[in-house]
Amino acid sequence: MAQAQFTAVSFNIKKREYWLPEGMRCEVEGCETPIFSSLSIYIKHWKAKHIPVVPIYQCSICQSRFGRRCELTRHLRFFHHLSVEDTNTILCKVQPEQLPNMHYRDPGDVLPRQAKPRVNVEAREAARRHREL
Ligand SMILES: [Zn+2]
Ligand SMILES: [Zn+2]
Repeated sequence: MAQAQFTAVSFNIKKREYWLPEGMRCEVEGCETPIFSSLSIYIKHWKAKHIPVVPIYQCSICQSRFGRRCELTRHLRFFHHLSVEDTNTILCKVQPEQLPNMHYRDPGDVLPRQAKPRVNVEAREAARRHREL
């Protein structure tokens, strides 16, 4: 139990930094990227390059493979002309396979940036104190 607590604490020592709203490049050494204009594009890059395995979703009808569940959904709906119900029935059974990421680049100790929390806790606290006065 104490061991688990210790692990949680040491994990928190290195905090993920916040995404810069003006855009930024990937910070992984040797990863030469353009400046990403949004966090979602950056995260997409992170998932494609800095995660050692990639999920693969396979169509059970024609064995085509897709990197994302939504691509398979679209494929079932528009390529195989399935109804929404039939598509969902197939999707329920699909388990992504984890394949080694061919484009993997070890991020070292760089952690992916995260979105800045929307709610500014300090400002909210100040407002609350102000109301109590
Ligand atoms: Zn990168
Ligand atoms: Zn198919």
